Amino acid sequence: MCRHAAWLGAPRSLATLIGEPEHGLLTQSYAPRMQRHGRVNADGFGMGWYDDARAEPVRYRRSVPIWADANLPALAEVARSRCLLAAVRSATAGMPVEETATAPFTDGRHLLSHNGRAGREAVRSLAADAESTCDSAWLAAGVFALLRAGTPLGAALADTVTRAAGKDPAARLNLLACDGTALAATTWGDTLFLRPGGDGVLVASEPLDDDPAWRAVPDRHLVLATAGDVRVEPL
Ligand code: GLN
Repeated sequence: MCRHAAWLGAPRSLATLIGEPEHGLLTQSYAPRMQRHGRVNADGFGMGWYDDARAEPVRYRRSVPIWADANLPALAEVARSRCLLAAVRSATAGMPVEETATAPFTDGRHLLSHNGRAGREAVRSLAADAESTCDSAWLAAGVFALLRAGTPLGAALADTVTRAAGKDPAARLNLLACDGTALAATTWGDTLFLRPGGDGVLVASEPLDDDPAWRAVPDRHLVLATAGDVRVEPL
């Protein structure tokens, strides 16, 4: 199970998801506290953010462990945005370890990450093609196809999760996605936590620190966050 995290609110750096918090994604890559599947997240990492200079987000991903990228800390300190998403990966057995299998996946304004596992048949029915044979890349392609057809972000995630779970009841489908002004996430088989605060909201597979304001999202729920509003509803 990979670990992912996102922020929506006042501008802040990607380091606030990765290296700064005591249990940020850097620590979670080798010592996650709540991981149910896999022990380390050393099969790649990625991050995405929004900048006024581009219509689309900036995405940086690699297939090496996050601790092995000596250039990352400085980049993560200066990559600042109102909307951030990052992930560290523990590849599911049989999935390729390559950059194209690594979150965040992106299309247009969207960034997407997946914690979990889904059967080949279940995910291949969602889209015509994907950039990798990895289950997460197919799930991302399925969500992006719905978004391109005009489906709202939350509905695209909910629809993709329920369709994939219908074909593979054992699938684990925690998705996290954003478009620069909204975040959406699902819980389907793994943990997810929210930390609403004065200047924004954090969403993460597990808390980034010991702040008592973190609260668990129940399983099989959809989280929808926009500026000043966080909703959690059953899937
Ligand atoms: N199945 C996905 C992969 O192989 C996600 C793995 C995970 O959540 N650990 O990358």
